[in-house]
Amino acid sequence: MDLNLEQAFEEPIDLSHLFEVPAVRLGRPELLSLDPVGFHGRLEKADTGFMLEGEIRVAGAVSCARCLREVPFKKRAAVSWVFAPEHERPNQDDLELAATDLDVVWYADLVVPFDHLIEEQLQLELPMKALCEDACRGLCPQCGADLNNAECACAPPGDDRWTPLRSLLP
Ligand SMILES: [Zn+2]
Ligand SMILES: [Zn+2]
Repeated sequence: MDLNLEQAFEEPIDLSHLFEVPAVRLGRPELLSLDPVGFHGRLEKADTGFMLEGEIRVAGAVSCARCLREVPFKKRAAVSWVFAPEHERPNQDDLELAATDLDVVWYADLVVPFDHLIEEQLQLELPMKALCEDACRGLCPQCGADLNNAECACAPPGDDRWTPLRSLLP
């Protein structure tokens, strides 16, 4: 979907859209599935450009960071973007000024591709290191058994806390 900023010249407009983002495009191996991403918001004219404020709805499933089981997630988050014309962009010499404007989307054309902005936002909204439950026991590092189901027959790993100290001894 492209954003046509021109639509908001006269008065604010409400936008809503469902984005079909293939999970693989996000480059997150733990992301097992992603439902269509809902967005609704209001685009309005700002001092030197435009502003879009709204809400994103994200749902899907990731794998548990310890045992790889599927963990569903569902989230709503407030999002906003500021769009300013490219000719207003501070030049490289005004680095201090530029640093304060990191969140500005500079446009040369009033039709702005929106999908990649949604994808960037998704990277922030996806759960990090999700767990199926806080007490998840994970997989045995030796045989790979899911320790939530049963203990495996592997010997417990040796206590190696003293190894660094031993290496200090003559
Ligand atoms: Zn787990
Ligand atoms: Zn094991």
